[in-house]
Amino acid sequence: MMAETAAPLVDVRDLAREFRMGSERVVALGGVTTSIAAGEFVAVMGPSGSGKSTFMNLIGCLDQPSGGSYRLKGREVSRLSTAELAATRNREIGFVFQQFNLLQRVDALGNVELPMLYAGVPARLRAERARAALARVGLADRMGHLPLQLSGGQQQRVAIARALVNGPAVLLADEPTGALDSRTSLDIMALFQNLNREGMTVIIVTHEADVAAFAARVIRFRDGRIVADQRQTPKDAAAALASWAEAA
Ligand code: ADP
Ligand code: MG
Repeated sequence: MMAETAAPLVDVRDLAREFRMGSERVVALGGVTTSIAAGEFVAVMGPSGSGKSTFMNLIGCLDQPSGGSYRLKGREVSRLSTAELAATRNREIGFVFQQFNLLQRVDALGNVELPMLYAGVPARLRAERARAALARVGLADRMGHLPLQLSGGQQQRVAIARALVNGPAVLLADEPTGALDSRTSLDIMALFQNLNREGMTVIIVTHEADVAAFAARVIRFRDGRIVADQRQTPKDAAAALASWAEAA
């Protein structure tokens, strides 16, 4: 048998996205080429307006490029219909946002069940999987709490459980620690590192070098292009958290 090389998880070639603003044309992404393998932990950095969110939205199948190609697990997804794109997104992508984006009137369990509702999973299986996902992020004892009854860090854990519950190929997080204090940020980064060690591919956008230090690879954007792409030895977030506790 021929040795098979697995396709990269994310493979983009000359990926471009422009927006029309009246008569103006804004080039948000000016032709980006890169690939990300399953199991990587990538931090995306760059100044405001450099195209980070545009890149994440394309990778996450929330948006379609104006040019170039995007293969997700070897499958070209840049020309899919809106419905096919939504189905791919629901199956393959877990999103985490800066502001958590939880439904305020629904408890933790209900929030985590939501993506499975869209995926048509039967009720009992939904509850079972949601409980398992909440346990995985350390919230087994908070399932019946509403978002307002939870700390910011706990709310972000609920959001991470929600992102994990359909078994995605990749977790995409745009500034996931942007609304959290330093200690809670470490806590959330330790959780991402644990998930990554269990095999989950993680791509996060961050402004903070302190946060990017926990990733194994840093991709930097400027003016809609990749200007640097470096691998590094990641700092250990659990260890950083422990020394924080000692110092306090
Ligand atoms: P970042 O996340 O790095 O701050 P963005 O990807 O949000 O950058 O934006 C990149 C560029 O594209 C900016 O100039 C921004 O104003 C523009 N842009 C992003 N989204 C839109 C949109 N929906 N309509 C018009 N311009 C947009
Ligand atoms: Mg952004």
